[in-house]
Amino acid sequence: MLTNKQKIKYLLDSILASGQKIQCTYCKSENCKEIDRKYLVTKLMECRNCHLYFRYPVDKQEENADFYQTEYQESDNITTDLPDPSLLKKMKDEGFTVGNKNADRYLDLFARLFPGEKSLRIIDYGSSWGYTSYQFKQAGHQVQGYEISRSRASYGIENLEVDICMDEKLLRKENHIFFSSHVIEHHPDIASMISLAESLLINGGYFVAFCPNGSPAFRLKNQETFHRFWGKVHPNFLNGDFYRHIFRNQPYYIGSSPINFENIHPLQLQESLTDDLSGEELLVITKFVKP
Ligand SMILES: [Zn+2]
Repeated sequence: MLTNKQKIKYLLDSILASGQKIQCTYCKSENCKEIDRKYLVTKLMECRNCHLYFRYPVDKQEENADFYQTEYQESDNITTDLPDPSLLKKMKDEGFTVGNKNADRYLDLFARLFPGEKSLRIIDYGSSWGYTSYQFKQAGHQVQGYEISRSRASYGIENLEVDICMDEKLLRKENHIFFSSHVIEHHPDIASMISLAESLLINGGYFVAFCPNGSPAFRLKNQETFHRFWGKVHPNFLNGDFYRHIFRNQPYYIGSSPINFENIHPLQLQESLTDDLSGEELLVITKFVKP
């Protein structure tokens, strides 16, 4: 959620940048069409080549990093607000099982991808202050978080005793899973995020990403929510067609909330599975297999 001051700045920045060339932020194609619009000057574009939906005008990368360091605030008061000692103690005592930070469904998913493996190596990309990394660690996994905001990362390192890295170059390799939840829709360079994941995974490791769902099946049912979901804090709007296109040469599973866990299993080489995509949250799982 943006403050009024941030909204005005966003609008002015958008007007100033409205002469910017329209080009897909993923595949660089200039063959794009407008599919939604806000405040006259900000548009949601669809790339006709890779089907990414992206907000136009596009931010410069430095502006994006600066925004997350200083201005980013989610309205749920927990993603970016750091809990005081008494609240943190309560959350730890409850094992984060109460409220929206419970990671049980992710742990369930990992167990389905690697049945029988008790201790997986996991990267928690965009780990914020480490509440998810903490739960993965408590469950017996070896977790390394990555977080762009120094204050959130430091908080997690100090208070939850989790490993959170602030430099992508220092992330360790040979992981079973590269996990992210509500990160890819904010990322200024999706291609670099995916190639980072590939470089950090074992042969047969999985990229797992949750994010808001921009798929046409969701839009059809929830026109207003779809319109609300993209904007300053969500420059990308991910959808099933985009994932199917970019992961067409590797196994994948694409689904939406509520996730149909029975359909999640170790992916075979030729497997490409798309579930019902009309839910609010989109999930992609893809396996990187080296030739
Ligand atoms: Zn594209």
